Amino acid sequence: MKSKNTGNVLKGIAAAPGIAIGKALLFSKEIVEVDDSEIVDVKEAIKNLDEALAKSQKELNKIFNLAIDKLGEKRAAIFEAQLMILNDPVVRGNIVERIKKEKKNPEFIVDSEISKYQSLMLASGEEYLKERSHDIDDIKNRIIRNLRKKRWESKIEKGMVVVARTITPADTLLLTRAATKAYVTEVGGLTSHAAIVARSLNIPAVVGILEASSKIKQGDNLIVDGFHGKVIVNPDNQQLEFYRKKLEDLNRYGAELLKLKNLPSVTLDGKEIKITANLDLPNEIEVALNNGAEGIGLVRTEQIFDIAEAFPDEDEQFETYKNLAEKIYPQQIIVRAFDIGGDKVLPVDLKEPNPFLGWRGIRLLLDNPKIFKTQIKAILRANIHRNIKFMLPMVASVKEITRTRVLIEEAKSELEQSGVKFNECLKLGIMIEVPSAAVLSGMLAEYVDFISIGTNDLIQYLLAVDRGNEMISDLYQEFHPSVIKTITHIIEESKSKKVSASMCGEMAADPIAIPLLVGLGLDSISVAPSALLNAKKIIRSIRFDEVKQLAAECLQMETENEIKNKLTEFYNGLKINLMEDS
Ligand code: PEP
Ligand code: MG
Repeated sequence: MKSKNTGNVLKGIAAAPGIAIGKALLFSKEIVEVDDSEIVDVKEAIKNLDEALAKSQKELNKIFNLAIDKLGEKRAAIFEAQLMILNDPVVRGNIVERIKKEKKNPEFIVDSEISKYQSLMLASGEEYLKERSHDIDDIKNRIIRNLRKKRWESKIEKGMVVVARTITPADTLLLTRAATKAYVTEVGGLTSHAAIVARSLNIPAVVGILEASSKIKQGDNLIVDGFHGKVIVNPDNQQLEFYRKKLEDLNRYGAELLKLKNLPSVTLDGKEIKITANLDLPNEIEVALNNGAEGIGLVRTEQIFDIAEAFPDEDEQFETYKNLAEKIYPQQIIVRAFDIGGDKVLPVDLKEPNPFLGWRGIRLLLDNPKIFKTQIKAILRANIHRNIKFMLPMVASVKEITRTRVLIEEAKSELEQSGVKFNECLKLGIMIEVPSAAVLSGMLAEYVDFISIGTNDLIQYLLAVDRGNEMISDLYQEFHPSVIKTITHIIEESKSKKVSASMCGEMAADPIAIPLLVGLGLDSISVAPSALLNAKKIIRSIRFDEVKQLAAECLQMETENEIKNKLTEFYNGLKINLMEDS
């Protein structure tokens, strides 16, 4: 493993933007040691057990309600599942039986019984189930803590920077109540629960700092730079000064940005660039609206529904899409078909040697027409106001589009036969995120109504660099000459076919990249709701004729360094200067 850390600066992955300065709270789940000592009073032990179960249930109910409030009902279902285990009479029955029979400390029996579930999940080899097994740890420790009549929530001081190996969704929510300033974790990528929640709640987060818990001590002063994925441990005066100023600027800048909400997204010389929002959580639509989104450019349906539990049925999907479409009306909303596989959880038990090159996105959907058609029908029905568009992920060939069109027609006639109301007209688009699709973009454009460039995947496939692997993260280069040449090709090809092209990958929200993208001819971008106003600010600070020239120069350059330096220099010249590195 290459070490990327120098001095007191630890480098990780920038998971949620923002800057925080605060004291470290090393958040580790105490490893609960239990002994198997004999007990004399079985009745008393069972009474204690029931009290502990009731208390745990009360606590989890509280977390569940908080989750509904903060994350929406779909995601809160994770906690509902935990509650179900807690309420399961079989679980209690087994524990009580063993207390009576073995006459052992109830803590020991609880530990051993609930660990059985965990072992099964861990042994499954399924990433999703492994992750869920930590949640089971949560329940187990909660019951044992309550058997000991201990409280732990009171230990969490307010306004700290939480440093942990990993954070469960329950922790993230509880810590939000403690006004947590930032998150730093050892494991997890951009798509981890903690990262998604942090982004939605606007809390800076840096993940993937492998040595975080060993290099950071309880109470250390920390600076978390969620823009650059950096954590500074016990900063010196100069570093503190630099970031205090930055934080002040950021607060001032945030207030300034809000004033842009209703202003047009247009360059100084009059070119309009449409900015839409990407949605990972249903509640984010409010943030998108508050930040003046001109529509929704990407709904990650696999995230909205947390399909790892089970696929939502047609009615449930219909309700969700309809609600989102109504909220954003009269603007448009692009709903993307389930993008399952790769680093995203599969709801089926499947081990692939190379999941990123495997059964992913459109491939999996076309092999499962029932799942695919259910989603298509829900969208056709929800499109009451004609403002929903449908987008396909991971497309690599024309055939995938034509096969989808056949399924759409089948879905329509099935709905018609059953007398269900739906809208005939559904615009179909594709993500361009596979090199073959990029090469063929002009040809593919003939078959669709719009195109959206998914740079997160396009870069990984083009450069053969895993987007989630921190060992090679320096090779994952947005500004690799091949990347910008490919983007140019896609834009030109789609324009020649009069098909609109947008970009919804993370690159579209990168302040350094925005002038280049506008210069390359992109006239629409889709970014996280929290990045919307910043993108608008940049667009309103540039001239199209200048960035066109900038883009032309970048296209002549041979290394990513040259391009990056050029773009950084240009960005600094705009005097927005907010996210510039130290
Ligand atoms: C992308 O690949 O750029 C994209 C937007 O899709 P996702 O991040 O959901 O894979
Ligand atoms: Mg993608």
